[in-house]
Amino acid sequence: MSVNVLFAARPDRWDAYETPLRNALSDAGVDARLAMDMPADQVDYIVYAPNSEVQDFTDYTRTKAVLNLWAGVEDVVDNPTLTQPLARMVDEGLTRGMVEWVTGHTLRHHLNTDVHVLNQDGVWRKDIPPLACDRPVTVLGLGALGQACAQALAHLGFSVTGWSRSPKTVDGVTCLSGDTGLHDALADAAIVILLLPSTPDTANILNAETLAMMPQGAVIINPGRGSLIDDAALLAALDSGQIAQATLDVFRTEPLPKDHPYWAHPNVTVTPHIASETRPASAARVIAENIRRGEAGEPFLHLVDRDKGY
Ligand code: NDP
Repeated sequence: MSVNVLFAARPDRWDAYETPLRNALSDAGVDARLAMDMPADQVDYIVYAPNSEVQDFTDYTRTKAVLNLWAGVEDVVDNPTLTQPLARMVDEGLTRGMVEWVTGHTLRHHLNTDVHVLNQDGVWRKDIPPLACDRPVTVLGLGALGQACAQALAHLGFSVTGWSRSPKTVDGVTCLSGDTGLHDALADAAIVILLLPSTPDTANILNAETLAMMPQGAVIINPGRGSLIDDAALLAALDSGQIAQATLDVFRTEPLPKDHPYWAHPNVTVTPHIASETRPASAARVIAENIRRGEAGEPFLHLVDRDKGY
């Protein structure tokens, strides 16, 4: 019997996802009717992006799962009408993109390439950077993205520490957890990369107190979420030199308002939430596999823990 899959996202997403989803569902052996519109009480699965027209899940009485297109679920996880299982996106393409962005910006800070790229002024600045093994890097968050980035940086030779809520083992990475682990993870870090989800527990995790735990002159790279950083505290730390530079991809308000001090700060690089993106071809396979699982009575992949919020 055919399953009904509602694609609840912006119409331009439909253009990108329709063919990959149809192909992936067919490859997974799922006979599906896929559409952008169908009566709520006929929907078996919702492929979901939070800015879609579906904000109230009450009438989706036979829906077996809501399959989020994005890794972050902060815009839907607290929806009181959502009683169906919620899966987040873990996508090979998204992960690869994040590894590339994080590696690129880490190497940029490590090698101090800005000094040369921005100063073609006839001055022979012959400062040799240390080797990666002498540059301690800390990744906050050791989930799908954090682990992949930590491992890629470790393969480049960086001395990598990772931090997560629960204890982890990751090849080549010193893994810490819990509140005391956070202090130790920050205490030596020359570069700190934030790949935590946005939850009440992670809000302002970088604040005046935790920024002061880092060595003077540390660098912050935030492709996680804007809520992870106390912006006023970071600006103060940048002004005092406690933090040398910050590369920020995500913000509390996006697009970042034109008059936000981050735009004008000489030691801040703003990128417009481009660190990585779900990639239709590989993400469609993840969604199709979850629908296949749902139909086969197997557990869904990448289920969100509603209590933890991620
Ligand atoms: P995961 O859910 O796989 O991993 C989250 C990690 O954060 C886990 O290691 C988890 O610990 C840890 N964590 C969560 N809460 C806490 C806490 N209170 N204290 C310590 N550790 C905590 O997420 P992903 O790796 O897939 O994605 C991470 C985030 O990246 C997303 O939530 C999203 O915000 C962001 N993102 C940004 C993009 C961009 O373009 N800028 C693109 C895609 C995602 P534990 O392992 O113990 O559960």
